[in-house]
Amino acid sequence: MAVMRLWIKDLGFWIARPQAECVGSVYQKTVIFKQISHLKGRECRRAVVVLEESAQVMYDGGGVNLHCGDQRDVSARNETRLYLHMKKWIEKAVMDYGMIEAGDRILVGVSGGSDSLVLLDLLDTPMIYVPAFSLVAVNIDMGFDPAYRGYGVLEEYLTQRGYDYVMEKTDIGPLSHSRFNRKNPCFLCSRLRRKRIFEIAADRGCNKIAFAHHRDDIIETLLINLFYGREISTMMPNQEIFGGRLHMIRPLCYLSENLIKKYGAERELPIIENGCPTSPVSRRSYIKKLIAELERENEDIRDNIWRAMAHVKTDYLPSKGGGP
Ligand code: SF4
Repeated sequence: MAVMRLWIKDLGFWIARPQAECVGSVYQKTVIFKQISHLKGRECRRAVVVLEESAQVMYDGGGVNLHCGDQRDVSARNETRLYLHMKKWIEKAVMDYGMIEAGDRILVGVSGGSDSLVLLDLLDTPMIYVPAFSLVAVNIDMGFDPAYRGYGVLEEYLTQRGYDYVMEKTDIGPLSHSRFNRKNPCFLCSRLRRKRIFEIAADRGCNKIAFAHHRDDIIETLLINLFYGREISTMMPNQEIFGGRLHMIRPLCYLSENLIKKYGAERELPIIENGCPTSPVSRRSYIKKLIAELERENEDIRDNIWRAMAHVKTDYLPSKGGGP
């Protein structure tokens, strides 16, 4: 029998709804309280109060009610050690950077690569400390594959999982590689894609956009900006834009690319190949290879770069930048 889960709005987490035949029984009560046994102190007392207050409504077996909103089938989720590890760090990142507030409507950018599918998968799981929010998955197909094979696979996945989603077929990829723009396709490509994502966010009432950039992306961007952009900067975990009307958040910022790939494989997510011809020869790809090469000599290199970002000694950096 499928195990359904209930979103306990007041608490900001999911519990599994016991099977219909147990509704109202002592067994049901035990099942519910077992699920909050990991909570400690104040959090646990608060959970008990809210559950007791909502007990009558939950025990009537009606399912959707004042306290219990969205329901999804989660019987397939296997709570492996990797899953719990990923969950721990995603929640920590969200809390550390105040990425999600109660009632947020979050657009999740889903390219179809493992990073974005992992982000969507993890955001759609019971959260212990993160307040209640809703999400809409958005895929902008870049048009590299005119047959749109990946588009079909992704659409089937999003439908099966019951996501609210928007999928759009575009020709941004070929346009960015047209003969008028051969020099820097990435600039136009990311600009057009981002513009469309902002428009969809406005249409769908989203106040936050979640991107699947992880710790390695942030490290690579720092080096790209340093090597090619003459500045020391990178992508922020929680970035305010349009005067605070919109936030770009990066809940995977504490997680490494390796772990994300491993989790994507463990969950058997339907990963779609990126058909972009520039991808293997892009600046990012070059920096990625460079770091991997340096890592052979110094296995701490990624960790050192990551930690250095939170340890900037501006007094020990020249401020003029001039010279021949
Ligand atoms: S690598 Fe390809 S898909 Fe990625 S930004 Fe550049 S042109 Fe666009």
